[in-house]
Amino acid sequence: MLEVDCPCVTPEVVLKASGHVDKFTDLMVKDEKTGTCYRADHLLKDHCKDKLEKDLAMSADKAAEFKHILAVLDDLSAEELGAKIKEYGIVAPDTKNPLSDPYPFNLMFQTSIGPSGVSPGYMRPETAQGIFVNFKDLYYYNGNKLPFAAAQIGQAFRNEISPRQGLLRVREFTLAEIEHFVDPDDKSHPKYSEVEKLEFLMFPRDLQMSGQSAKRLCLGEAVSKGIVNNQTLAYFIGRVYLFLTRLGIDEERLRFRQHLPNEMAHYAADCWDAEIESSYGWIECVGIADRSAYDLRAHTDKSGVALVAQEKFAEPKEVEKLVITPIKKELGLAFKGNQKMVVEALEAMSEKEAMDMKSVLETKGEVEFEVCTLEKTVTITKKMVTISKEKKKEHQRVFTPSVIEPSFGIGRIIYCLYEHSFYMRPSKAGDEQLNVFRFPPLVAPIKCTVFPLVQNAQYEQVAKNISRSLTAAGISNKKDITGTSIGKRYARTDELGVPFAVTVDSTSSVTIRERDSKDQIRVSIDEVAAVVKEVSEGRATWADILKKYPAHTSASADE
Ligand code: AMP
Repeated sequence: MLEVDCPCVTPEVVLKASGHVDKFTDLMVKDEKTGTCYRADHLLKDHCKDKLEKDLAMSADKAAEFKHILAVLDDLSAEELGAKIKEYGIVAPDTKNPLSDPYPFNLMFQTSIGPSGVSPGYMRPETAQGIFVNFKDLYYYNGNKLPFAAAQIGQAFRNEISPRQGLLRVREFTLAEIEHFVDPDDKSHPKYSEVEKLEFLMFPRDLQMSGQSAKRLCLGEAVSKGIVNNQTLAYFIGRVYLFLTRLGIDEERLRFRQHLPNEMAHYAADCWDAEIESSYGWIECVGIADRSAYDLRAHTDKSGVALVAQEKFAEPKEVEKLVITPIKKELGLAFKGNQKMVVEALEAMSEKEAMDMKSVLETKGEVEFEVCTLEKTVTITKKMVTISKEKKKEHQRVFTPSVIEPSFGIGRIIYCLYEHSFYMRPSKAGDEQLNVFRFPPLVAPIKCTVFPLVQNAQYEQVAKNISRSLTAAGISNKKDITGTSIGKRYARTDELGVPFAVTVDSTSSVTIRERDSKDQIRVSIDEVAAVVKEVSEGRATWADILKKYPAHTSASADE
């Protein structure tokens, strides 16, 4: 996987080609008197939830209706949302004034590039586009072969209508995206067998639409039944599951929800969100999309970036090829200065689009045709274009790759990780609760605390040496040489989620205590760094370590 680091400011032509300028919108309603803006779907969601919670006399039919709306909320069109807002008499929450009809609001921050102010640009709403515009070089670095992937971690900017819930909905956030390019005719994945037996909570489209809840499904079965579109998409769903659970996300509070048809981003063919349950409800933390070929082809057509791959045949193959011949004389007469744009759009049609056009032209003699670059629909007659299929010998195939994209919202994942790792541990006497973060050693920000049992120069020197050897081994650690009681120091490191604490109680060997079990082992000073490193990096479990080293059983100072 190749990593790139592209600028945040992106020229308009790129985001026009990707469809973001026209379609990256949320539906907004305005307070008709004060002009305050709200997200239309949020208001409807809050209304339904509120009614379900508070209106205890509600009929079963009405309750079912509200539940259904909540299930399909993301799928509602502007008209449907507007109609529901009117039907339920929803008004502006702060002023109770009437609301406008829902209308689309583009979420990108616009800017202008350079001093003249005539080159429009946007702060990137996703990091993917930087990878797409560098496709040609990335493909070359990969030996001109598919599949390959590129990744980018960086800031993304979205002018959210109502930022809320702390880190969960912000206007600038860290995004980490992988673009895995594949042959659209072969979306198998060589490492699919590593994930196909995994079982976890999945929430396919039909379960959502029929008001059911998420179910534990086997990933391989979901692929063979056609619930998940292809192996590569499934491979990444499986890897995201492994990644999140390894971070410490509770698998009971993790589900993969398939997007409803209208909910899907304008570029996606199928999409699954890894949703994590937090105190704010189920939150989309990672989106895994099969981006249809559309926006990639648009790059080749519109932003001048060649997003094409080739496959050289060992033997020339006879293939049936689509031939689109625009009749320039007729097109020139009809469209004058716009002729070039119409010709380009005709030539860029997919095989299906072209064959559909051919059949309409044959039956009706003319057809309506949308030319994106002109932003209008024109009438094409039979005389203006010939479309046929011809047999040709070809030495290679040239095609637009498909791309599977896992997209990780880092802030949301970290927020959920803190919630899922947190628990309150009663003290032995039962009189006190201790706050503990149960981070797995692999992801704990600090891996090890080191402290002398008593304040004494010799022990402090040993603690310093151990801390140095941990640092040299790449293990983040923290010394605690305060004179507070050992129990308090353990409580402090548990609260920070530090998985291991080394207590210096002699000058030759020390104890290592594990946070969750509170087990202690005795290890010679020279081995401490190696032991902590092994478990922190996931090469051994604490249970493995317990078998190798003697337990330290002296009266535990822990409590
Ligand atoms: P999307 O491209 O909309 O699927 O977003 C990709 C990921 O970015 C989501 O799964 C979220 O984790 C994250 N994300 C999207 N919007 C926001 C936001 N406003 N604040 C924080 N994270 C976000």
